[in-house]
Amino acid sequence: MDKILVIDDSPVQTTFLCSILKDDYELTARHTAQEGLQAAREGGWSLILLDVVMPGMDGFQLIQTLKADEATRYVPVILITSLADVQYEERGLVLGAVDYVTKPFNPAIIKARVNTHVQLYRYRTQFMEQAMVDGLTGVANRRSYEERSIARWREAVRFGLPFSVCMFDIDKFKVFNDTFGHPAGDRAITAVAKAASAHFKRSTDLFARYGGEEFVAVFMGSVGETAYEFMKSVRQSVEDLHIPHNPEVGPWLTISAGGVTVLPKQEDNYDTCLKMADTMLYDAKRFGRNMVVWYGASGEQWREK
Ligand code: GH3
Ligand code: MG
Ligand code: MG
Repeated sequence: MDKILVIDDSPVQTTFLCSILKDDYELTARHTAQEGLQAAREGGWSLILLDVVMPGMDGFQLIQTLKADEATRYVPVILITSLADVQYEERGLVLGAVDYVTKPFNPAIIKARVNTHVQLYRYRTQFMEQAMVDGLTGVANRRSYEERSIARWREAVRFGLPFSVCMFDIDKFKVFNDTFGHPAGDRAITAVAKAASAHFKRSTDLFARYGGEEFVAVFMGSVGETAYEFMKSVRQSVEDLHIPHNPEVGPWLTISAGGVTVLPKQEDNYDTCLKMADTMLYDAKRFGRNMVVWYGASGEQWREK
């Protein structure tokens, strides 16, 4: 059930509003703008119903605060105004409210307006989520990776955590496609994505399809050798899928991975780190494929063959 936050200083009005909507929505009421703001920041709302005239911080100030914060910006806000406040409607709409309802309440109109905006919000959220997911494999896409990786990097800098980035790529995939056909290739990419993504379970892990048959992973907290061992297990789990490759290439479909673990400092650069991972991947291909090549913070290198 969608959650709606009602912010109104009048308990009588709040109770009435909630009684109109309670069959279709989960409602929470707050009676001051400050409390409302706090509740709004906790998240999970599909809509906020906001009274304009309240003592202390009023609805206008609150809506400005909500719209200025990335975490609350996208939740639709419907203003509650009385006929006497009609001149406020324009201001509220300009500040970013999606609609208004007037007191005294007309239950049918309120229901209709709320339903419309909750529905629109659902479409929007769904659309935003889809824009971050790779259509073929269902894992995060390149765009999602681009948006989130820098934030992870900054966290690692701030908390002084080891930061690892890994690029991996399916071996001799052109031959695979030529042998088994493009649809089989698509299924193989999906299977690889699924097997690999199962390893990246921490909330700080990032795993995405970088493009084609290439993937990228970002994770924090492991020192170089641990990160290397971890990626070896990822590589192994792809080999263990036992997807037959062209026999001239090898018995099974495999991946090569290159990565780097650093202790990032303020003056370091994420792109340099990513390029380093890419160079390690190139080495993994050069040294014979189906292997992990890893570069450590103090200049160590690990490789499987
Ligand atoms: P290497 O071991 O050096 O990585 O060799 P490779 O053949 O995998 O590398 P190359 O970059 O030459 O070829 C990648 C192939 O991946 C070519 C392309 O047709 C195929 N490919 C890329 N994206 C997709 C996709 O979405 N579906 C399928 N089926 N094939 C794809
Ligand atoms: Mg390849
Ligand atoms: Mg490639």
